[in-house]
Amino acid sequence: MTLEPVESDVPYHRLYINGEWCDAEGERTFEVTEPASGTLIARVASASTADVDRAVAAARDAFDNGPWPHTPHYERARIIHKIADLIEEHAFDIAELESRDGGVPIRKTTYNDIPLALHMMRVFGDLARRPPYEPMPWNDFPTLSWNFVWRDPFGVCAQIIPWNYAFPMAVWKLGPALATGNTIVFKPSSLAPLSAIRLVQLIDESGLLPRGTLNLVTGPGGEVGEYMVGHPQVDKIAFTGSTEVGRKIMAIAAPHIKKVTLELGGKSPSILLPDADLDKAIDGVLFGMFYHAGQLCEAGTRCFVPATLYDEVVERLVARTRQLRLGDPLELETDIGPLISFKQRERVESYIKLGREEGARLAIGGGRPVGELYERGPYLEPTIFTHVDNRWRIAQEEIFGPVLCVIRYEELGDAISMANDTMYGLAASVWSRDLQAAIEVARRIRSGTVGINEHHVLNPHAPFGGFKESGIGREMGVAGLLEYTEPKHIHVDFQQKRSGKIWWDALLPPENEHE
Ligand code: NAD
Repeated sequence: MTLEPVESDVPYHRLYINGEWCDAEGERTFEVTEPASGTLIARVASASTADVDRAVAAARDAFDNGPWPHTPHYERARIIHKIADLIEEHAFDIAELESRDGGVPIRKTTYNDIPLALHMMRVFGDLARRPPYEPMPWNDFPTLSWNFVWRDPFGVCAQIIPWNYAFPMAVWKLGPALATGNTIVFKPSSLAPLSAIRLVQLIDESGLLPRGTLNLVTGPGGEVGEYMVGHPQVDKIAFTGSTEVGRKIMAIAAPHIKKVTLELGGKSPSILLPDADLDKAIDGVLFGMFYHAGQLCEAGTRCFVPATLYDEVVERLVARTRQLRLGDPLELETDIGPLISFKQRERVESYIKLGREEGARLAIGGGRPVGELYERGPYLEPTIFTHVDNRWRIAQEEIFGPVLCVIRYEELGDAISMANDTMYGLAASVWSRDLQAAIEVARRIRSGTVGINEHHVLNPHAPFGGFKESGIGREMGVAGLLEYTEPKHIHVDFQQKRSGKIWWDALLPPENEHE
């Protein structure tokens, strides 16, 4: 356990290296505050590169010499389910911690994020039961042999996650890596690290993982994260964060030809077809956009509306947005909490200014809410821009805040072209009563996930990831699990006759030697 008072009564969280909780070199720490109020809620060890070296060495040793990579898959499955049991037991505490640390409304963390994370961990436990063996077709060319694919764990994985959706993100990094026998050096974001640290504490308390299998380092991304990524003893990088940092990571990984999976940014479309059920679509679009104040990678930030419905849809979106409750994330009735930081609010506000300059019409929001509560944290009104041109920067760049762009279209083909006309390709939703038409549109959208009559459709059985600059590789589902393995072809040769061996073509038998 790392919950100890240091100077004051806020908890202090250390690094977790080789099965021990330890201070960072020089006892460096950073502070974690609640976005909603600025209250200090924890101090966290701030790792140095020397600490990263120790964590990587522990993970390396655990991989090369420890039992975890060779632990039978059914035993790994049992352990992952035990970890899931611990999440279940502490679900309400974790939900509250996540709400305080990330400013996430407690209704979301209690009824969605933590239950979903628990479900994910259980699915990873089930998937871990999959033997690391894949049969291959019978082979008798050029000789008779039995062939199969064995899935080796990849090795030491450096895993880095962002501040938004922190707990589920931690689960979907650790779960598949552990399920397949890897060892890990894990780094949460400094802006909201507490729920991920809590997960490592629960795993530690369970005593189920061999020493060094899981290591936690906390600290600034540009220093600690970058050093982890470039470390020659790290075999695989699993990164979730911005496309900008993702590009850097790929470049750092290149000299060692490291395996990378990148889950990056998005600018996802919600496309309303002319026959959409507006009673559902209006709420669905707003859920897609304003869930966690728009701070979700797959947020539906561009809403494409047929010209015939445009005025009605805008009117209804605005009227419904007026009813959304902006407030304290710990209150059950809050729909939208604060942004993660004042810096993030400034960034979003700069886009709101840009939207006005580009010529968009501000239909609602755009400012800071007024009132004592709102002065304590970086609150921002849910904002809708109408008459947006898809080529403008507000429609092309990831804002990562509560700003919706409503874009008119004449023909469905134009909507699909515009939806695809972005460097991103993470998610989308299509709203229609005609499921066949909706599926046809879904198939033409260039993104990793498409929801029909729903947005934010995370499913631990389904691969999640991005086309184009939204990422490389997939997480979750069997595809996500396989990203943590190296396929190895094993060939068992049955040919006994020398003349039937493949070397016959190259090596004549020694003189006088016959079959
Ligand atoms: P970020 O890229 O700034 O940081 C993400 C993580 O990387 C943090 O832990 C940070 O400390 C670390 N980091 C920062 N610089 C680094 C560097 N040079 N080398 C290594 N690590 C570094 O992103 P953020 O602001 O924390 O999160 C928001 C972004 O994450 C958005 O762009 C969002 O779309 C994206 N995101 C993507 C997904 C997805 O699954 N595709 C999910 C959630 C968030």
